[in-house]
Amino acid sequence: MTQAEATRALLAAYEQQRAANRQEEARRAEQVTARDPQVAALLRERAQGLARTLQAACAAPDRAAAIAQAFERRLGEIRDALRGVLAAQGLPPDYLEPVYRCPLCRDTGSVGEPVSRWCGCFRQRLLPLLYSDADMAALAEENFDAFTLDIFPDDPLPGGPLSQRATMARLRDLCLAYAEAFPACEPRNLLFYGPSGLGKTFLMNCIIQRALARGYAAQRTTASKLVEHMRRYHHNGEGAEAYAQLANVPLLAIDDLGAEPMIENVTIVYLLELMGERMAAHRHTLLSTNLPPKKLQEAYSERLTSRLLDTRNTRILQFAGRDVRLWRAASG
Ligand SMILES: [Zn+2]
Repeated sequence: MTQAEATRALLAAYEQQRAANRQEEARRAEQVTARDPQVAALLRERAQGLARTLQAACAAPDRAAAIAQAFERRLGEIRDALRGVLAAQGLPPDYLEPVYRCPLCRDTGSVGEPVSRWCGCFRQRLLPLLYSDADMAALAEENFDAFTLDIFPDDPLPGGPLSQRATMARLRDLCLAYAEAFPACEPRNLLFYGPSGLGKTFLMNCIIQRALARGYAAQRTTASKLVEHMRRYHHNGEGAEAYAQLANVPLLAIDDLGAEPMIENVTIVYLLELMGERMAAHRHTLLSTNLPPKKLQEAYSERLTSRLLDTRNTRILQFAGRDVRLWRAASG
């Protein structure tokens, strides 16, 4: 299931829940009214009161404050009357209040104004769905909670006072701060560069997972898959939704830049197009590559790399040291 599909499926489930809530409210109202018919009028007045009050206030703006006050007072009277009825019927005082499972989002799935994000209840259900996407499956294992520094050698790196472990601690702190501050993190892009086996992909996954866990839409892919998506989109017009998702998702991680097949110049054109769109819309992108910046400049066009490597747009995180997979195997 892709991220877009998972989100859509879950939003549909939330819509059903809200419909079920309205049914439950109607059932309760009927139950209480059956034993006490005056309740129907009170509920009707409560439901229509706001619209009527707004109408009255618009018709007589100079008396709007007094009208609002009178409405507040009347609402209080209705509430007290309903509670009296409920108490007499042995029902809880909030029995005729709006029904919902989650008090934070009232079963809408999102919270926050004006920039909304997914509610905790929504995230809790969305994340397992997302992990069923092949591109996202790694996030179940590769996140900040699972990140351990012990796997990195602690002797000083050649040419510097810091060990690989100390360097990784610094990089982890930077990435964690970025993920916690997202989307208010500057610069917006991070470029992870260094040889394989130093934890670039792992840390990138950590950021994506944390952003998702904080309720933001985020996606990861590899440069090869990305180019394949874009090739299908441009040549056959397929996968418009997948392309729109890559262009619009607030946080995108593109792993292993430079490993994708270079099909003449189209790869560069695709990447330029996507990055151009994302940067113009102030979206955040994480990129990892084995190629040092100079090699990147040779492999891609000046137009792409000059913007990408501009430190106002991108923070460059350099990874150095020994391949931890080999080091772990050797040190047993
Ligand atoms: Zn909620």
